[in-house]
Amino acid sequence: MNLALKNPGPRPGILDIAAYVPGKEHAPGAVKVHKLSSNETPLGPSPRAIEAFQNAAFNLERYPDGRASALKEAMAEVHGLNPANILCGNGSDELLGLLCHAYIGPGDEGIVTEHGFLVYKIQIIAAGGTAVTVKEKDERVDVDQILAAVTERTRIVFIANPANPTGTYIPVDEMRRLQAGLPADVLLVLDAAYAEYVRRNDYEAGLELVSANRNVVMTRTLSKIYGLAGLRIGWMYAPHAVVDVLDRIRGPFNLNAPALAAGAAAVRDQAFAAAAVEHNLAWLARVGEALTAIGLRVTPSVTNFLLIHFPGREGKTAEAADAFLTGRGFILRAVGAYGFPNALRMTIGAQEANEGVIAALTEFMGLK
Ligand SMILES: *Cc1c(COP(=O)(O)O)cnc(C)c1O
Repeated sequence: MNLALKNPGPRPGILDIAAYVPGKEHAPGAVKVHKLSSNETPLGPSPRAIEAFQNAAFNLERYPDGRASALKEAMAEVHGLNPANILCGNGSDELLGLLCHAYIGPGDEGIVTEHGFLVYKIQIIAAGGTAVTVKEKDERVDVDQILAAVTERTRIVFIANPANPTGTYIPVDEMRRLQAGLPADVLLVLDAAYAEYVRRNDYEAGLELVSANRNVVMTRTLSKIYGLAGLRIGWMYAPHAVVDVLDRIRGPFNLNAPALAAGAAAVRDQAFAAAAVEHNLAWLARVGEALTAIGLRVTPSVTNFLLIHFPGREGKTAEAADAFLTGRGFILRAVGAYGFPNALRMTIGAQEANEGVIAALTEFMGLK
């Protein structure tokens, strides 16, 4: 018997997955580093969240509340929801994974879009399913393409609205059209990680669609506007049947106690979140205009990041820009894996970082 053949092996498909690559953190040689690669807020979390986190340090021998009641209560109050329709996760990433593991198996398909968040595809394949990728139109989710890709095997559709890394969104009537066109047994997952940043009259994060239908769920995160990416807190608003399913398979204590405490405090500090939105709106416009003025195409964004496209000739490639910026301490995100080999994604940062990137790219483009 050949013992070498007897090593433990994963299920088929797992080794086809390319592991998620987080945004870079280091800029060797730079005096000061500005990390603009992971859509983290430059303002940090609310001081009330930090205080709640510190207080939680005195009770670490106790298991956390496995039902996350206080956190759900805070979310329910702020958004006007029934806490029974909320489920919390160790980051929204955990919820995306749980949804796939519960609703997808071998032979099943999950639909994702051309420039969609890579975690969806990873989790569909990890659950044994097949990820079906559909085209986008002008760097926007295309509802017709999604509907055309639905088969008997489709179990789940993932869209981020607004989307990452494009920063674009589809209006609520398009979301309604998508839901209306899907079979009743296909789950529509609306990932609204950047919802708080959007200021558009025709945008809706998904609350209404979830409330009105049995096959729609919305995921949210405290990693972005609330500045708690390091604590890993996400939540989902979903029909009771979906909450019930995920409650059966999640870890019983999937959120830790300091995260539960800090998360509730952060959500209740809406004044702090509003200030973060104001900072972002002002700088999103300014940075976008400045980069357009130096000849770069910037995808119109409603989020806290910008997708910057480089000419791709005469040395003006995304790769060269990345090296140039990193040498000056500005870390942006390479997005080749998202189908943009000649673009970089920049998170809106503090004033110093934003002005620094504008100055560096002006120089890079040979305009100074
Ligand atoms: C950042 C982000 C999330 C949030 O992930 P967490 O696990 O909650 O930190 C989810 N979806 C998209 C599209 C994101 O960009």
